[in-house]
Amino acid sequence: MTQTNKSTERATEAKIGIFFDNSWHPSYNNRTIPVINPTNGNAFTEIAAGNAADIDCAVRAARAAFDGAWGQLSATERGRLLSNVGLLILEHFDELATLEALDTGKPMKQAKADITAAARYFEYYGAAADKVHGETIPFMNGFFVTTEHLPHGVTGHIIPWNYPAQMFGRSLAPALAMGNATVIKPAEDACLSSLRLAELCAEAGFPPGAINLVPGSGEVAGAALSSHPGIDFISFTGSPEVGSLVQIAAARNHIGCTLELGGKSPQIVFADADIEEVIPVVTAAIVQNAGQTCSAGARVLVENKILTEFTKKLSTAFSELVVGTPEMDLNLGPLINQTQHRRIKRYCDQAETDGVPLIASGRVADDVPAGGYFVAPRLYGPVPLDHPLAHEEVFGPVLSLIPFSDEEEAVKIANGTDYGLVAGVWSGDGSRAIRVGRRMVAGQVFINGYGAGGGIELPFGGMRKSGHGREKGFEALYEFSASRTLVIKHG
Ligand code: NAP
Ligand code: MG
Repeated sequence: MTQTNKSTERATEAKIGIFFDNSWHPSYNNRTIPVINPTNGNAFTEIAAGNAADIDCAVRAARAAFDGAWGQLSATERGRLLSNVGLLILEHFDELATLEALDTGKPMKQAKADITAAARYFEYYGAAADKVHGETIPFMNGFFVTTEHLPHGVTGHIIPWNYPAQMFGRSLAPALAMGNATVIKPAEDACLSSLRLAELCAEAGFPPGAINLVPGSGEVAGAALSSHPGIDFISFTGSPEVGSLVQIAAARNHIGCTLELGGKSPQIVFADADIEEVIPVVTAAIVQNAGQTCSAGARVLVENKILTEFTKKLSTAFSELVVGTPEMDLNLGPLINQTQHRRIKRYCDQAETDGVPLIASGRVADDVPAGGYFVAPRLYGPVPLDHPLAHEEVFGPVLSLIPFSDEEEAVKIANGTDYGLVAGVWSGDGSRAIRVGRRMVAGQVFINGYGAGGGIELPFGGMRKSGHGREKGFEALYEFSASRTLVIKHG
């Protein structure tokens, strides 16, 4: 049996259920959602369509765990369990990578990188769990004041389809490290790796109820989770539109939330940058995961002095890109679904109608299956600043090239969208690179490099419409906890 068949079988086995108290249970309404293979548009298995009653079960299980065995564990014991998950992910590496590639259509090498990152989240937060210290605060004579960081209680997690396994780790591992009991609603378009990861968490030794998972649609299961009165905090990654709904639901329950809502991230290339180094990074930053990355480098701002040479080299790089199936393992795979496919096509059609020059495009491999959501990567430019391609998030392999004449103009254009997630600055002049980097409205700024999606250790999150709150690194541990100040009078 091939690895793909084994993974499909495993996915089908895990099937139609809601995961709480460390095992699968039938959903209340027994409804299902087909799981589509993005390389051919065919359904190959199905998942449960969880509803509000299922969410309620999962939240109750989480509450019981928080008030019970899970809540009693020490930080060191929690860390050990998280580290166990990291090891189990690596033990099941091929199975998980194949499942992820099957579900999302991404190239195998990307799926493997994603599973490595998922394991890293559990390793990192496993090691960090018992290293979150409070502080002592000088106060009036006769008092001793100290703080400690406490879990919120039950945390809700709504994750998108673009990096499902990574998102599972990114969202759950820090929440668990701090001692929260969790309920996760993965995206219906790609949740198979999350189903399997929930099982591996149980195998790692987590007490029942620490990790609960309800598959289902956003409108039903997602909305029920974000508005459930038993949730103490919610972490959301996805679109700005749904992010607003989640924040409204959180506000109604007077709880906090973090929102990670994507971007239109710029990379500024000054004339003194090392172009040979820039080209592959700028290309990879938009084609990685077929551009379906919140931190994709979707705009490249190029100094006029090097525009001709840079455009020529980037055009060559784009024309060499090939799209294919996971097994072909080329530069990029298909888009996730038909909606995304239509959306990207709409942007490209509009660019054509509006006369935005298409500088170069890659191609779809000849032998891909019919019915898949394949689209060739495209480089447009110069893109006028008032065109949607200059400021809207496309969430596909479409790069907008925008020229600039000086530092001031570059900064203005870079900061000129509603978003502020990541930015990159390329320059041989170190002072300028730092100066400009520090003016970027973005949660992460790369100087002479760009790491779309990378870096478990690096705090990550948005400004403006890109959302608020920080994930990754130690900052995530503070998001998933609240401080308590203890004021002791000793006379
Ligand atoms: P989305 O609708 O915001 O989905 C993100 C998550 O929210 C999914 O789990 C989704 O569930 C859930 N959801 C949907 N409606 C909900 C609701 N009313 N209440 C609570 N949860 C809800 O994003 P999308 O439709 O997948 O993608 C649309 C656009 O969002 C993309 O084109 C892109 O611009 C952006 N996006 C950004 C990121 C990012 O990493 N920042 C990731 C993905 C998408 P279901 O999908 O199961 O319905
Ligand atoms: Mg799928």
